[in-house]
Amino acid sequence: MQIPATSFYKDVNTNMKMAPVDREKANVYMERYGVEFDQLVTSFYGDKFLLYLWMFSSDNLCYVKSSCRAEMNKKIDLYVVDISFTKHGFVHDAQCECGAGEGPFGHCKHVGTVLYFSVKCVQSGEVKVESSFTEQLQSFT
Ligand SMILES: [Zn+2]
Repeated sequence: MQIPATSFYKDVNTNMKMAPVDREKANVYMERYGVEFDQLVTSFYGDKFLLYLWMFSSDNLCYVKSSCRAEMNKKIDLYVVDISFTKHGFVHDAQCECGAGEGPFGHCKHVGTVLYFSVKCVQSGEVKVESSFTEQLQSFT
């Protein structure tokens, strides 16, 4: 999976033109790999499972990058998840750093969770993550 340089990404916010991802389109991807999308991730939503949600839009694709907790209540283990969407809102490809989420068609629970957040984000215009892009940058220095 081809991924843009990190510096291209911006925090997802309401002013952004995100690909029109919805539950149905996300389900298409998850079901292809036999993953129960709803059951898997709805329990994570609202618990600040993701540290951030970044987005970059190229001519053809909309890239989402996120850092996801490996397990609930564990701060140390984090996996970076990358998903790209077509401009129509379908998943183009996805990958995660964990053993089960190898790209280009990763479908582990972390990918599922980021997918779910993306859907929610498009739906509601709000992003439930732990920190902003700026805070992340500060923590790197
Ligand atoms: Zn994973």
